[in-house]
Amino acid sequence: TTTKQTALITGANKGIGFETARQLAHQGFTVWIGSRDQARGEAAVKELSVDGDVRIVGLDVTDADSVQAAAAHVGDATGPLDVLINNAGIALGAEDGPPSTIGLDTIRRTSDVNFYGVLRVTQAFLPLVRQAPAGRIVNVSSTSGSITALVDPESPLAQFPLSVAYSSSKTFLNALTASFAVELRGTPIKINSVCPGFNETDINGNTGTQHPSEGAKIVVRAARLPADGPSGTFFDEHGVVGW
Ligand code: NDP
Repeated sequence: TTTKQTALITGANKGIGFETARQLAHQGFTVWIGSRDQARGEAAVKELSVDGDVRIVGLDVTDADSVQAAAAHVGDATGPLDVLINNAGIALGAEDGPPSTIGLDTIRRTSDVNFYGVLRVTQAFLPLVRQAPAGRIVNVSSTSGSITALVDPESPLAQFPLSVAYSSSKTFLNALTASFAVELRGTPIKINSVCPGFNETDINGNTGTQHPSEGAKIVVRAARLPADGPSGTFFDEHGVVGW
């Protein structure tokens, strides 16, 4: 007999997280939708209930108590966690900008979700991931966090205005992914950063060029890596992305 696998996705009430939940539910996972807002989370669960076993857990990644309570709840209800997806993220739009004028508070608030949020959640849920036979952790990052891409005038990124709060939060996130991978060497756990591509979601005012179900595919791939798959890497649908 095979035990049903369990996944938790932060910020899964909409966008890429929501589509990732749908795909994993279809593949037979019990999926926990982390949502900071109860009503939005419930609406998402209702919509996804036709796709499989999808459940809500209240989870604000900036709130340590909320994160701890979520980990306790998931542990009590379903035990070992096979897949942890750190997807929740924000971009502060026009408030973000180039380093000469950026407000430090803009950097702090962006990082509190995109970087510290991932660290809070990963620290809280790692004990459950360790209980799974072959845990997978996926950090949803962005090519805008790649220093290699940033300094390359030929990169598509060069066409976008600088948003140092967002991009540095993802650079920091990628560094965290690598550190965790080193710490987790010798365990079956794999942790990777992925870039989901440019998706039509609220984070970019729906200017993205692909449906978030496309972005979700790369997240699902990282969540389902085989035993000989990579750990501590950063990749997108085309392959490895430079740091
Ligand atoms: P959305 O804005 O559609 O979704 C973001 C999700 O994160 C929402 O569910 C939101 O919840 C949640 N969230 C925000 N703050 C918190 C918080 N404090 N605690 C818990 N959840 C929170 O954006 P995307 O789906 O596009 O973004 C998902 C990830 O993909 C992000 O990490 C983003 O940086 C990354 N990404 C997206 C790209 C794109 O083209 N769309 C490109 C590269 C990376 P709520 O509804 O309550 O606000």
